[in-house]
Amino acid sequence: MPPSKNNWLEKLLNFGISEGSANNLNYKQVVNLALALLCVTDAGMMLVFALQQAYWVVGFYAIFMVISLFGFYLHSRHYFSLVKLIVPFSTIVQIVVTSLYFFGPGSDFHWLFVTVAAYAFTAFRPDEKIMRHGVVLLSVMLFTACEVFPVEGVHMSNADQRLTAVLTFLWTLFTLAVVINVVIARLRKVNDYLRVLAEKDELTGLANRRKVLANAVIMYTEAMHYHQPCVFAILDLDHFKRINDTFGHDAGDLVLSEISGVMQSCLNKGDAIGRYGGEEFVAIMGNTTLTEAQQKMDSLRETVENTYITTEKGIVIPVTVSIGLAAISSQTKRYEDVLTLADTALYQAKKTGRNRVIAQQPTF
Ligand code: GH3
Ligand code: MG
Ligand code: MG
Repeated sequence: MPPSKNNWLEKLLNFGISEGSANNLNYKQVVNLALALLCVTDAGMMLVFALQQAYWVVGFYAIFMVISLFGFYLHSRHYFSLVKLIVPFSTIVQIVVTSLYFFGPGSDFHWLFVTVAAYAFTAFRPDEKIMRHGVVLLSVMLFTACEVFPVEGVHMSNADQRLTAVLTFLWTLFTLAVVINVVIARLRKVNDYLRVLAEKDELTGLANRRKVLANAVIMYTEAMHYHQPCVFAILDLDHFKRINDTFGHDAGDLVLSEISGVMQSCLNKGDAIGRYGGEEFVAIMGNTTLTEAQQKMDSLRETVENTYITTEKGIVIPVTVSIGLAAISSQTKRYEDVLTLADTALYQAKKTGRNRVIAQQPTF
C-alpha cells in the first residue's frame, strides 16, 4: 500500500501494527480506534464522578482505562487476538454496571451496546462467526435486560438521566461516525491502490497496455469531436534482444525502466504514453500536428541515443529507438486504424536502418 498521510489519526490507527500485517490491517485499526475511544470514555466518566466525589466509581473506570492502555501495550507486543477480545468484554462490563447500577436504565446509557455490535462486525473477520455473532447476541440480551429491569441508579437523579440519554445518543452517533469514516477512508485507499495496480506497468512505472489504450480511445474521441489534430506514435527499442543476449535480462530490464523515464520526460503534460508490450511503447499526442509530433519524436529519439545506461557492474549500454507516427484524419473510422498506420511507419523505420522517426502521411 502507498504510505498514508502521516497525521495523528493515522498514527493512532497504525499503533503497534507491523509491516507484514496487510491481511489484518483494517481489523487491527478498528481495535486501536476502539481502545482509544474507550480511554476517552473512561476519562470522561472519571471526571464526572470525581466532580460528584464518588471516588470508588472513579477507581472503577480507572481500572478499565488501565485495561485499555494495557490493550495498546499488548497490541504493540503482537497479542492482537487477545486485545481484540478484551475490547468488547471490557466495554460490555462497563455498560452493564454503569447502566444497571450507577445511572439506572432510565439514563438510556445501555444504548451504547450499539457500538459493541458495530465493533463486532468491524473487528472480527467474517470467518470468526462465533465471536461476531456471540458478541452481538450478548449485546442484544444485555440491552434487553437493561430495558426490562426497572432498577434505580445509585448515582443519578431522574433529571440527570435525561441529560445522560442525550449525551449517550451523541456519543454513540460520534463513535459510529468515526468508525464509518475510517472504514470508508480505508476502502477508498484500497480502491485507489487497486486502480493503480490495474493501470500501471510494474517494471517501467508507465501506464500499462490496457490503460494507454483506454487513454488512446479518450484522446481519439475528443480529437474527432472537436476536429483537433492528434498523433499516435509507436516506439520500439532497437536490437533489444541483442541487449538482453549481451548484457543479460536484468540489464535489459534496467534499460526498459530507465528509457521509459527518459521518453516520458520528452513528452508534454497532456500527452499519454504507456508500455504496449515487451520493448514497445505507445504515445498519443493530442492537439498536435504531424509535423510538430515528428519534431518532438525526433528530439526524443536523439535524447535516447545520447542516454548511456550504466549497469551496476559499470557496463555502459547504448540504446536507440525507432518510432512510427500516424495522425488521425477525417477518413479515420477507428483509433485502431491510426495505430496500424503508426505500426506500418515503425516497420519502415526498422527496415530503413533503425534509430529514426518515420511519419505515415494521411491517405486523403
Ligand atoms: P528490433 O530492432 O527489430 O525491434 O529488434 P529487437 O531485438 O528489439 O526485437 P525482437 O522483437 O526480436 O526482440 C524483443 C526482445 O525484447 C525479446 C524479448 O525477450 C525482450 N523483452 C520483452 N519484454 C522484456 C522485458 O520485460 N524485459 C527484458 N529484459 N526483455 C524483454
Ligand atoms: Mg525492438
Ligand atoms: Mg518489438
